[in-house]
Amino acid sequence: MTPRLCGACGAGEPGEGACARCGAPATVWRAGAGAGAQWGERAGGALALGFSAFACALAVYGFCGRWWGSGGTARALQVAMALLVVPFALAGMGALVNAVYQSLFRRDWQAAREGVDGYYATAATVAGRVVEGRGTVWRRSDAMALCAVERNAVEVFAHLGRVRGELLRGRPMLGGTPATADLMVCVAVAHLVTRGAWRVATEETQQWSWPTDRSPWSPRWNAGLYLQRMRALDSDERLDPVALCLEEAFERLATPPAVTANERPTRGPYRSAALEVAPQERPWVALTSVLEQLLPGLRSPRTCLRDRASQAVARLASDPARADDVLREMTALVEFQVAPGSNYLNVVLRETQRHLKQRSV
Ligand SMILES: [Zn+2]
Repeated sequence: MTPRLCGACGAGEPGEGACARCGAPATVWRAGAGAGAQWGERAGGALALGFSAFACALAVYGFCGRWWGSGGTARALQVAMALLVVPFALAGMGALVNAVYQSLFRRDWQAAREGVDGYYATAATVAGRVVEGRGTVWRRSDAMALCAVERNAVEVFAHLGRVRGELLRGRPMLGGTPATADLMVCVAVAHLVTRGAWRVATEETQQWSWPTDRSPWSPRWNAGLYLQRMRALDSDERLDPVALCLEEAFERLATPPAVTANERPTRGPYRSAALEVAPQERPWVALTSVLEQLLPGLRSPRTCLRDRASQAVARLASDPARADDVLREMTALVEFQVAPGSNYLNVVLRETQRHLKQRSV
């Protein structure tokens, strides 16, 4: 019997058809790995556990079944030893009998829905009754338009004093005042999206587990960012060291699998043209994956980014008039909502704080 559990939200009694709690179509559970085919293995395991349980039962009988001797000392010794051994033997027996039951009747299940609005869930049943379940649910947006950011991270870095003082002070932000490198990552991504070099989308996720959290379905989703690289950076975009480092991280990630000679499209004997290879959509990559590849092998990527930005600022022609432009763009960026309840700055900060910590390499 398949689990009565909704894979999309973890509702225990989803009802017939669509889930009564979240409205998802009925979950199709498939037997997980190790089901059915390994009956012999299960039976062997159960037998071994059964023998151990039997040994525990023998120990209990040995102490409680009959007196070892007729003398008072022997009986006192028996009672004292029984008090030490019997409770453990009984507890062990209970656990072993339960393990036998589980190994004979436990089944693992999994369910998945692919696509932009999907989930992956696993569950276990014992004799048809759900004993545990967990799942990850996601919904992905289409490519979205961030607010336009014409200034690159170096230009913002040049005015960071005013940005911090006038814009960021007193604002509720994840982890207090954001580190310089984290802010520059926010700006660099927004700038390259504005320029059309990358596209950005959100993926909101949440987890459920059953039965530890029986009413987990909440409107709180965790938003994460996904990037799609549309073209290589042009020469003036490469002047921004943060964008350049992110681009290099992208390249480390997106190295296409090597095409071997056999797989290469060839001309067939009756063909006049090479076989056409269907154009594939460029992959969407999680910002967290890009950040993991940022300056690999460096103990402190943040310090390195900051140093490179300050060297780039030194080369920048001074233009005080830009400060107001920078502030205007940054205000829009700081307030931009990528999903209900998730603003862009905090989403990027959460990901940078997780991945740009001091690495121990
Ligand atoms: Zn549901």
